[in-house]
Amino acid sequence: MKNSKGCIIWGKESFLYSFPEPHPMNRKRLESFGLAFKEQKNNGDIEAPKICSYEDLLLFHTKDYVELVVNKSKTGEGFLDYGDTPAFLGCFEAASYVVGSTLKGVDLIMEGRYKRVFVPMAGLHHARRNTAAGFCIFNDIGVAIEYLRKRYGVKDILYVDIDAHHGDGVFYEYVKDPNVYIADIHEDGRFLYPGTGKREERGEGNAFGTKLNIPLLPGASDDELLFAFEEVKNFAWEFKIEFIVLQAGVDGLAGDPITHLNYSIEGYGKFVKNMVELSSEICGGKILILGGGGYNPENTKKGWLMIWSIINE
Ligand SMILES: [Zn+2]
Repeated sequence: MKNSKGCIIWGKESFLYSFPEPHPMNRKRLESFGLAFKEQKNNGDIEAPKICSYEDLLLFHTKDYVELVVNKSKTGEGFLDYGDTPAFLGCFEAASYVVGSTLKGVDLIMEGRYKRVFVPMAGLHHARRNTAAGFCIFNDIGVAIEYLRKRYGVKDILYVDIDAHHGDGVFYEYVKDPNVYIADIHEDGRFLYPGTGKREERGEGNAFGTKLNIPLLPGASDDELLFAFEEVKNFAWEFKIEFIVLQAGVDGLAGDPITHLNYSIEGYGKFVKNMVELSSEICGGKILILGGGGYNPENTKKGWLMIWSIINE
């Protein structure tokens, strides 16, 4: 077992999930990291991206919706939602590579090959079971939760989301599920898409108390982020956690063109490091880190390199 070191899932297929410019989720955010990563010299391991199967998608998504993506992928025309997420040629395959790579990350961890795996192009937290939303075609996090349960019998999963946007696709699909513990730090919905994620939303029915939303005001910086970590940590310790998924979107870093948070790369890195330490304390170090959003190419480069250095410490 070489699980003292982390692993990244990265390769030429990582560039497929990008929308044509001027869409903010375009290739530049990936290329910026890709070029810098090539020049990195450290002893971490790289695994190739993997495509998921049609059946994997059905673990979370409806068949009607998957079929819609298959068909739109052939023409590359129109939208997959109300207008944020355009279809493009090959979008079905591109999105299936995102999901497959996240599932491969789950396998690498559950088979004991690594404790920590990083999948930069993943973490598509807005997609719902039956529709795309907010640049997200398939929700690789939702598929991973179902896959962890079906393939490995994992019951209690902690999902932490520090992307600037509220992870509504995960939150609302599991709002009634008492075994998916969600802590989501995001820019207050009064100022940013998707507008959800209020403090008062704590889960429904017997899942009440298993969800934690921490909305931050525009301009919030490292102090607020790291203060929120303490709350996340206390929340996590309340439960018996078997596996952690961290959606570590870098769109909360200062200078992102579509959000208004103000984290520094150091504060962001401290949060990620704290999460890795928390995973060692509560679930044997099993943490899958997903890159999420981030629309300033300099920030995707710095943020993702920061994660890479942390998981290889
Ligand atoms: Zn985001």
